[in-house]
Amino acid sequence: MKILSALQTIQHPLFLRHNLQVQIKRDDLIHPVISGNKWRKLKCNLAYAKQEQFKGIVSFGGAYSNHIHALAYACQQEGLASIGIIRGEAHYQQNSTLSQAKTWGMTLNFVDRATYRLREKHHYLQSLREQYECFHIVPEGGSNQLALKGVGEIINELNNQTDYDTLLTPVGSSGTLTGLIKADNNQHNLLGVSVLKNAEYLNDSIKELLLDSSAKHFNNWKLLTDFHRGGYAKFSKQDEQRILTFSEQTGILFEPIYSGKMLLAFLDLVELGYFPAKHKIVLLHTGGLQGLLGLAEQSKLQLDGWPMANNF
Ligand SMILES: *Cc1c(COP(=O)(O)O)cnc(C)c1O
Repeated sequence: MKILSALQTIQHPLFLRHNLQVQIKRDDLIHPVISGNKWRKLKCNLAYAKQEQFKGIVSFGGAYSNHIHALAYACQQEGLASIGIIRGEAHYQQNSTLSQAKTWGMTLNFVDRATYRLREKHHYLQSLREQYECFHIVPEGGSNQLALKGVGEIINELNNQTDYDTLLTPVGSSGTLTGLIKADNNQHNLLGVSVLKNAEYLNDSIKELLLDSSAKHFNNWKLLTDFHRGGYAKFSKQDEQRILTFSEQTGILFEPIYSGKMLLAFLDLVELGYFPAKHKIVLLHTGGLQGLLGLAEQSKLQLDGWPMANNF
């Protein structure tokens, strides 16, 4: 079996004090552009599109979407066309994420919020199928059944890399957590940290993705919904500072939308004594570091304060 990303042990005074073994699965290092869970989720979708001789892939995202960014690049590499249905106005095409996606050949279609909300509705998808004949339509965040299979490979790799009790992942659309749940098959505890506010509805999305019949079988996972820090892409100066300090201490860069929110939740849980002594924890670094550029463009953070961010 090919192991795609390294597992690294993190040394930190907090973990020493609580007698915890903490390791991090560096999916952020899988690829300089298609990093982390987007690579995992796209892999089987790309193979499927090619096998079925589709012209390309259509998918959905916000103006700074890591998924759209990864999809555009991956499709270009695989000789497939790509179409991004983007929530918002056309001026967003000048931002860092979408201007790169365009360079890689993606066609951008901007839709208003009301239209974007239809993205999972049967009749809307049917009209897209008619409009984009011979295209594979992938949901927002890339989270479909084919994605679960690619994500599941993380579990196989980890089983060959270490023994552990609990695996933590950030959660957006929940495809990643669902893929982990399915592949893990009740071997470990799985904790998902929702980065969205009011994310309780994701419990149902997860069960739906697991398909009703098998969902009952999996009882080893939990979605934490209280660590969103105000909502999607929201965070305080203090949150930012804690992430930066941890990055400086460990040499591992995080961004405050996904991986950084998982990190903050984890640090909070450790401080609260959530994990018993000698517990072995793996953090999944899902990548997404291109998002730092978008945050800087929106003045949500100052890149000069993020010295390590210059490396990508
Ligand atoms: C998209 C994304 C997530 C969320 O994954 P889901 O499968 O949508 O839950 C987590 N981390 C990063 C870096 C992402 O880009």
